Amino acid sequence: MSARILVVDDVPANLRLLEAKLGAEYYDVITAQRGEDALNKAWREQPDMILLDVMMPGMDGFETCRRLKDDPVTRHIPVVMITALDQREDRLRGLAAGAEDFLSKPFDDVQLLSRVRSLARHKVVIDELRSREASGRRMGVIDADVWRDNGLNGRVLVIDDAKRQAEKIRRALEAEHTVMLMGEPEEGRGGVDLFIVSVAAESFDGLKLIARMHSGEATRRLPILAVVDPDHMPRAVRALELGAHDIIYRPIDGDELAARTRTLIKRRRYVEALRQSLDQSLELAVTDQLTGLFNRRYLASHLEPLVQRAARGGEPVSLLVADIDYFKRINDAFGHDVGDEVIKEFAARLATNFRPVDIACRYGGEEFVVVMPGTRGDYAALVAERLRRHVAGSAFPIKGGAERIDVTVSIGVSASVTGADTADKLLKRADEALYRAKQAGRNRVIAEAA
Ligand code: GH3
Ligand code: MG
Ligand code: MG
Repeated sequence: MSARILVVDDVPANLRLLEAKLGAEYYDVITAQRGEDALNKAWREQPDMILLDVMMPGMDGFETCRRLKDDPVTRHIPVVMITALDQREDRLRGLAAGAEDFLSKPFDDVQLLSRVRSLARHKVVIDELRSREASGRRMGVIDADVWRDNGLNGRVLVIDDAKRQAEKIRRALEAEHTVMLMGEPEEGRGGVDLFIVSVAAESFDGLKLIARMHSGEATRRLPILAVVDPDHMPRAVRALELGAHDIIYRPIDGDELAARTRTLIKRRRYVEALRQSLDQSLELAVTDQLTGLFNRRYLASHLEPLVQRAARGGEPVSLLVADIDYFKRINDAFGHDVGDEVIKEFAARLATNFRPVDIACRYGGEEFVVVMPGTRGDYAALVAERLRRHVAGSAFPIKGGAERIDVTVSIGVSASVTGADTADKLLKRADEALYRAKQAGRNRVIAEAA
């Protein structure tokens, strides 16, 4: 997977070194030598990741990172801080400034590339969610809300068979989170914000566990922090490849663990909020607000494939177009609110007459379309007649049930034909049948002329 990486360092030789290493792996590299320049380029170029040197004249790496994370336009871009070896304070400050990760100079190539790959992969998820999120305004709202989250009060499950290490993890995290310890993995465990999995465990295979969690239904989206032995770098790399979001080395530094945990939990909440908002906007986008039926847009995207399948000799599809009779009179006599009550009651009766596979839509005003997959025209006409009787058979309650009025409906029915049928043609034939039903006196069903 290729990605665009912004590398920020005040020393040109360092820039060239990283440019060469990343370029050799086909990453697209952009460079900046100062914090201000980095902010501008991050804004303009929207890189997939930023490698940021801590020590720079003027605005240093910490401040640059803080500003990147303060800005809704750049805060979702992962930042990796580059520190000198064994600068524990720098690492902690970097994580506190919002960095996702850090690397120490001189670089271990394998480590550099596996971290870059892992972050690029997780960024893809966020990008997809962000781009599918329909409305920019709503995007701004969740961004602001969730970004204030401090990553505290999470539920952390530690899976480690080394008792003393597990206890150490608990002590480091229990002031800020609910921590559960597990000596052995258990399948399908959800309800957790972060898994900490020891890859150095003896009684189970930590790597295998990470792979299973990463593909398991209940755990797929949960972040995993892998505890690895610095003497077993290949296992650390493997853990990232298999789906761990982050790694921490033994012996565990409690403060670093706490900082990484906050970052991971914060990021998970951000992704979940994006996902939920997306689900909501998808649902809103295909649902009619007044009746809860599908809307025209949903019909437009689902009818054509059914008609095409039928046209090529697959199972038939039928549809009906139903239009309430003399609806204008109801509006005129009782007002628009009562008109709405009638539309809702009609939709409710409509919904009870069809199978779950049928697609019932409000097509516009007081006009409805029901698509019946796997149904021939003669059977669809029977179903339409049943609906007509269900509407005419008992008066509609209005004004919250205080009064009742009689309502009737006219319905046109059409069925797919093999050959050159399309959704538009099928709808048009049903519309023509509906028109004839209206002409013939209303309160009736007419199927298209065969
Ligand atoms: P016909 O029997 O020929 O169908 O007569 P009609 O009066 O039902 O015909 P027409 O389609 O001309 O009128 C539909 C009216 O429905 C026009 C519009 O003002 C009204 N209408 C459209 N949408 C809504 C709505 O959401 N709520 C209400 N209350 N009225 C609506
Ligand atoms: Mg009407
Ligand atoms: Mg109408």
